[in-house]
Amino acid sequence: MSGSLLVDNIGELVTNVAGSGDGGPLGLRRDAAVLVEEGRVAWVGPARYAPAADRRIDAEGAAVLPGFVDSHAHLVFAGDRAAEFAARMAGEPYTGGGIRTTVGATRAASDDELRATVRRLVGEATRQGTTTIEIKSGYGLTVADEARSLRIAAEVTGETTFLGAHVVPAEYADRPDDYVGLVCGPMLAAAAPYARWVDVFCERGAFDADHARAILTAGQAAGLGARLHANQLGPGPGVRLGVELGAASVDHCTHLDDTDVDALAGSPTVATLLPGAEFSTRSPYPDARRLLDAGVTVALATDCNPGSSYTSSMPFCVALAVREMRMTPAEAVWAATAGGARALRRDDVGVLRPDARADLTILDAPSHLHLAYRPGVPLIRQVLHNGVPQCRS
Ligand SMILES: [Zn+2]
Repeated sequence: MSGSLLVDNIGELVTNVAGSGDGGPLGLRRDAAVLVEEGRVAWVGPARYAPAADRRIDAEGAAVLPGFVDSHAHLVFAGDRAAEFAARMAGEPYTGGGIRTTVGATRAASDDELRATVRRLVGEATRQGTTTIEIKSGYGLTVADEARSLRIAAEVTGETTFLGAHVVPAEYADRPDDYVGLVCGPMLAAAAPYARWVDVFCERGAFDADHARAILTAGQAAGLGARLHANQLGPGPGVRLGVELGAASVDHCTHLDDTDVDALAGSPTVATLLPGAEFSTRSPYPDARRLLDAGVTVALATDCNPGSSYTSSMPFCVALAVREMRMTPAEAVWAATAGGARALRRDDVGVLRPDARADLTILDAPSHLHLAYRPGVPLIRQVLHNGVPQCRS
């Protein structure tokens, strides 16, 4: 859309420019305006000094924040595991084994069926304020099915992640080394043209540290950035391995010991917490407070997937993080925007400053505090992505 656009009469603007505005990490400004030109933020400042523009959106005193950056989602799948969820809520433990159920359904689905699910979920996320979303493969687990999952994901996002090492598929159950060889060789070669990242589910019952190291280093050699599912179901070597290999993010971080926290604190690797998974598996939440107090950079993401966290809602994750993980509302909002951007090594999203992408969420609320204060309430009034209005409730 050409021409300039002024978002005016903003009661509270979250910029995430540390030290600006109120001087805090959210860089809060009161009575602000944002000028958008050619999909980028052109100017941020007091509403009374706002420059003229071709069009205007009146925020009517509401809060405006950068669009959420959901840095962890599994959207390319078929089928539904509602029955598994119900069984878990009736007392069965979560083991990760249900992933194979989704693999079967995904392999049997057509491209158009997978594409329709991805687009439905991305639309759902957008309506809840998400403007950047990472999407993983990992329910194909053959060379052709992983490549097509990433090809379909790449139609809707640049943040695509090759997760051939999600689980060892049934046909390789008694020869996991052979499967790791496939992932590092032909599967990576077929996936890499559509992927920015490589990821491994490093957990007991999935892939051990040697396998994870082999896969991540092969991915890095192919030009992909590393990220990791680690320490979700129990303690393990995943977090330390991720830090050692320079992963952008280690995700879950539910079971950490002091050496894990120390390793993260001294590194640029982000700890991405996924409280939707603990909610949906009725598991203990990660200790965000411990990580923040140690100086670790924390991100929040949905982990949207049909098994262990079937939510696309970043506001829900913010509310969980505040209520269950001892984050302040400001820390949770930062983690869901700027933190997600750090986890994707992006400096053009999750922030509202000149030259950033014009991704803005206008709330039906006067303050970012309401995202946690009013859980479950649809507070997203309008979303701009690249300066273009996406939806209006
Ligand atoms: Zn995940």
